[in-house]
Amino acid sequence: MCGIVGYIGSQEAFPILIKGLKQLEYRGYDSAGIALISESKKLNIYKTKGKVIHLEEETQNRDKSGNVGIAHTRWATHGEPSVVNAHPHISMSGELTLVHNGIIENYALLKEQLIEKGYTFKSTTDTEVLVQLIDYYYQKNGKKLTKAVCKALNDVIGAYAIVVLETNNPGHLVAARKSSPLVVGVGQDQKDYYIASDATPIVAYTKKVVYLEDGQIADITPNKEIEIINLEEKSMNVDIHEVNLDISKLSKGGFDHFMLKEIYDQPQCLKDCMRGRLFVDEENPCNNRIVLSALTNFKDRLLQAKHIIIVACGTSWHAGLIGKQLIEKFCRIRVEVEYASEFRYRDPVIEKDDVIIAISQSGETADTLAAIQLAKEHGALIFGIVNAVGSSIAREADTGIYIHVGPEIGVASTKAFTGQVNVLTLLALALGHEIGTLPDDQYRQNIAELSLIPSKIQEVLQQNEKIKRISTYFTYARNFLYLGRGFNYPVALEGALKLKEISYIHAEGYPAAEMKHGPIALVDQEMPIIFIATHHKLYQKIISNMEEVKSRKGRILAIVTEGDEDVKKIANETIEIPQTLNFLIPLLTVIPLQLLSYHVAVARGLNVDMPRNLAKSVTVE
Ligand code: GLU
Repeated sequence: MCGIVGYIGSQEAFPILIKGLKQLEYRGYDSAGIALISESKKLNIYKTKGKVIHLEEETQNRDKSGNVGIAHTRWATHGEPSVVNAHPHISMSGELTLVHNGIIENYALLKEQLIEKGYTFKSTTDTEVLVQLIDYYYQKNGKKLTKAVCKALNDVIGAYAIVVLETNNPGHLVAARKSSPLVVGVGQDQKDYYIASDATPIVAYTKKVVYLEDGQIADITPNKEIEIINLEEKSMNVDIHEVNLDISKLSKGGFDHFMLKEIYDQPQCLKDCMRGRLFVDEENPCNNRIVLSALTNFKDRLLQAKHIIIVACGTSWHAGLIGKQLIEKFCRIRVEVEYASEFRYRDPVIEKDDVIIAISQSGETADTLAAIQLAKEHGALIFGIVNAVGSSIAREADTGIYIHVGPEIGVASTKAFTGQVNVLTLLALALGHEIGTLPDDQYRQNIAELSLIPSKIQEVLQQNEKIKRISTYFTYARNFLYLGRGFNYPVALEGALKLKEISYIHAEGYPAAEMKHGPIALVDQEMPIIFIATHHKLYQKIISNMEEVKSRKGRILAIVTEGDEDVKKIANETIEIPQTLNFLIPLLTVIPLQLLSYHVAVARGLNVDMPRNLAKSVTVE
């Protein structure tokens, strides 16, 4: 999920690798490491927790010579951020060293098999399993690295971008990818090669790049053309592209702001979030299933829970409100959603068989942590939903599910919100099915529909230009009202929060029917009202609310289901989202609202990624 840099050629590798890691820092990470092979074939590996600058400090008076090396910034997915878990990882034989971005889903099974074969492990990562597996095939296949990588990858389920270094044969690097990007830069006259997770660290040296494709394995040797094979060991064509990128945008993956990048990352993030958890068998939907180890580990406690309390703050609290509706609908368990900051001081009623779901992107939110501690004292089961692996909430929780959306840098949360809702959806469906409150056929159908959400988000993103145009009408508004019902009510709250956070415009979210109980007094021709009016059983009632606004000259932007005709007759502007099941709608309706707030803030010339007064991780109460 984070950064890889590799170099092989005639120059000193260290400065190129360190500079490359710094250029990939924008991706966020928790630890960094580097491996170099000196001319005398000595392998030096340096790793550190924290920033690349610490790695530089650490290596100041150490041997950093060598014309070949690999480097990595890690965003932990398996095992806490620590020096042992940082990459590069070395095989037990000491002959192979590897950096990896992504997740090896079947690492536990592979690890067991390798332990039986006598392999031992130092770290708790999935990555170390991969390097040992490659080593196993390497030793079995006459130390032919490319073949060994290919054989190992055939055993692997998951996502990876990898680069492997061979201690005794430092004349080449082997790289491979599946679902995690990897680019190879071809130096002048093929004298040297640069490898990286994206073109950012490469463009200063060469404009010629090869974008590795899924299932491709590249053997990279200086003064030779790259050789690419597929997982069947068949030789493939090598397509060399010219990159012509705006360097200033590169650090944000080609986008103007991290927030926009993260909004666009969402289809991939949700795929990553569901990887190894959601299984769809198109030919035989009876096999569709959700596998959550968190459910297996604490099955009895979860199945017997009579009462669930969700504690969270900010955007995570909005995700919690959706979680409540999902769990009540599918599991028929009573759910309360609490602001962690209120809950912790209120002397709440917590029974020992209650389940507390704590939601936090950073896993460090002070109020949520305190709420967990309080619930623990009452003997409740703590279930964490966090992004940052090894964070305090992840450690405090008895069990939980990581959202695995990668580091979120924009202060206003976008992909973490959809990741949280996605995880809550997986949890509610799996738990409901286990309990028996969600019938088998509906469970399988819901899974199939959930698997389509990433591509439907992609369709919504295609309306970005239209949303940008619409945003220009609203740039000077001083107040906004966001209205939605059912699953779209928390989305209205989240849309309003996003606008407040980055555009500093006052905005409020309400359940649409509540409008008559107060907010309607504010409506006039100056006031934009955002209606989330997708098709569901309350659709006609929302249309009536819209008429009420229209007759008071409010300016209406409506988020509607594609093909909608009725709302279009009333609203000033509409944005369509694809059809889906009602309980999945928040994952789609929130996207145009994220984009709208982004464009309004940009048009107002504001610092979208670092809005005033806000912190990304709220570690104080
Ligand atoms: N899954 C690997 C780990 O946790 C790689 C994470 C990454 O992509 O940085 O070490």
